[in-house]
Amino acid sequence: MLQRLLRDHINYVKQCILRVAIDAPLDVCFDYRWLLEDGATVPLVGQLALVPFGRRDVVGVIVAMAEDSEVAPDKLKAALAVRSELPPLSTAWLGLCTFAADYYQRPLGEVMLPGLPKNLRAAKPTSLTRALKKAALPQPTHDATPGTVHALNPAQRDAAAAIAAARGFAPTLLYGVTGSGKTEVYLQAAATILAETGDTLNPAQILILVPEINLTPQLEANIRARFPGVAMATLHSGLAEGERLSNWVAAHLGQARIVLGTRLAILASLPQLKLIIIDEEHDPSYKQQEGLRYSARDLAVWRARQLDIPIVLGSATPSLETWHHAQSGRYRKLELRERAVKDAALPQVLLIDMERDKPVEGLTACLLAALKLRLSRGEQSLLFLNRRGYAPVVACDACGWISNCSRCTAFMVLHKLDRQLRCHHCGLEQRIPRACPTCGNVDIQPLGRGTQRVEEGLQAAFPEARVLRIDADSTRRKGSAQAAFDQVHRGEIDILIGTQMVAKGHDFQNLTLVGVLNPDTALFSQDYRASERLFAQLMQVAGRAGRRARSAEGSASEVLIQTRYPQHPLFAAVMAHDYEPFANDLLLERQQAGLPPFIYQALLRAEARELAVALSFLQEAAGCIEHDGILINDPIPMTMTRVANVDRAQLLVESVSRPALQAFLKAWIAALRAMKSRVRWSLEVDPVDI
Ligand code: ADP
Ligand code: ZN
Ligand code: ZN
Repeated sequence: MLQRLLRDHINYVKQCILRVAIDAPLDVCFDYRWLLEDGATVPLVGQLALVPFGRRDVVGVIVAMAEDSEVAPDKLKAALAVRSELPPLSTAWLGLCTFAADYYQRPLGEVMLPGLPKNLRAAKPTSLTRALKKAALPQPTHDATPGTVHALNPAQRDAAAAIAAARGFAPTLLYGVTGSGKTEVYLQAAATILAETGDTLNPAQILILVPEINLTPQLEANIRARFPGVAMATLHSGLAEGERLSNWVAAHLGQARIVLGTRLAILASLPQLKLIIIDEEHDPSYKQQEGLRYSARDLAVWRARQLDIPIVLGSATPSLETWHHAQSGRYRKLELRERAVKDAALPQVLLIDMERDKPVEGLTACLLAALKLRLSRGEQSLLFLNRRGYAPVVACDACGWISNCSRCTAFMVLHKLDRQLRCHHCGLEQRIPRACPTCGNVDIQPLGRGTQRVEEGLQAAFPEARVLRIDADSTRRKGSAQAAFDQVHRGEIDILIGTQMVAKGHDFQNLTLVGVLNPDTALFSQDYRASERLFAQLMQVAGRAGRRARSAEGSASEVLIQTRYPQHPLFAAVMAHDYEPFANDLLLERQQAGLPPFIYQALLRAEARELAVALSFLQEAAGCIEHDGILINDPIPMTMTRVANVDRAQLLVESVSRPALQAFLKAWIAALRAMKSRVRWSLEVDPVDI
């Protein structure tokens, strides 16, 4: 008896139980045993482990060392390997992921693992050792000449000093007009913080988030020139795997002191994180729209609070959520009211009434004249049209046929260069029909225009001009967007035409004219966020003009907006460059209508072959548990009901209390899973597209 106890005891100390989070659609972690033979390393919480899962071997994160397991000892599988060469992920990082999993109602493994470099998740991490060695080496100091450090103007100086002096959790809105030099403020604040801790054992890390991959190269070059001795790493989805791994490792080891990335970087491991900066914080791309539908901005604020560090949210047109916090004093507001470059004034915004000045090929006479003037002066122009392709639809005049997608509630878009009709929602492609498929009429016509058609029109109007189109179609090849923007910066382009890709953040030096081609659809959208977004977009794109001081003979910078509704109040606010009253009005409207940020929402979506099935699932879901204090709306079809032959419906739930909503969602998810319906469903917390 005694002997047996003793033997059990020895067995007990010789093995431990690892609780591992795995990227699987199950909301649980899994237990594995690990033998502690003589000399074997003792696994640590936060390390990665290779474990058998179903018929595969997968990598997971050890989230706990368990005392014992609910799984019977003889059923407990053994972990295959522990990546002990990689220092463990910190408790703070595990805490961040646990919060995100809880808040967005997703499995923990689904938060932790997809963000890790592929190589770390592979059964054999071939280049890990190399990446670790490389990151541990002293980082090459760039012998590039230090970048020009502008003498900050007083407003910039105050803002940078306030940010660098902040201690503890201090969320700050840096509210500065386009071209007010927010970047300089970030970098100056970063410099102060880096200098303070540079000689200590634990030098600070700073995370800078930007909304678009295409904005990283300019800022990266800027930072490298500015901080020649400081290691920096970028993290975004455009990196090659090897680079992604070594950059991630450099961040994880604390070697990279500045980490610049897109939204996914918010889940990076940054053990010495001391400051977070989110540039263009209002940008919709901070919201992930599939899988774990997180808001990188919201997670960043949570992370800053968790670590008790300052966070800066920068924008010329802050999101109403952030604006609301600033107005109510929860966030400090720092303002930059003027453009930083001396004599670079904000552009004048003018409206062109399309009822009076009828456009030819989408371009009004007034806009053509303005383009011509820029061409004659060797200045650049930008035309903004948020619609790619040649024409959004093809139609037959004779019988009324239009190019609907057979699988979606959407039109097939004409892509003339590829001689195709293409659905932007399901990817369906077809050759352009020679004649109307219904009546045989050969004279079928493109209706409306996209960037390709405007490009064609521009070339016809200005045969000598160097016209460049930048949109998702023209930049499919890796590196091509960067090459295109470089061309613009080098002055090899006269007229740039593009979608929102060209509207964001770029610091164009010789651009004095912005033309906005078709903002009207957003004016009357059902989506209550449409006007907030349109305003931000117009201010952003307008902000690309006139960023350099004007020479004596140069053009004053202008923004020309072609519209059929020049009386619309939104345009008046854009013309005044005044976000404040506009934002305050919108906030008031939201408050009166009971919309975010005054209430909290979640959206249950269902997909089925037939709409009725999706709707009846939602109907059942609506009644499946108690819901005191929660408003459950009626299930409705989504605006774009059918995508790829699947019908989609949604159910909005709301509450004035975030904790109440969270508690409800937790119980609801469990009940929904128990329904075991065959309908595919997903839940989104804080949805933005409703
Ligand atoms: P924002 O991000 O606010 O739109 P940027 O940070 O891109 O503005 O700055 C706009 C331009 O002003 C850049 O070309 C930058 O180099 C320049 N700039 C910034 N601060 C100063 C300053 N204090 N003096 C002169 N130029 C400046
Ligand atoms: Zn026809
Ligand atoms: Zn389709």
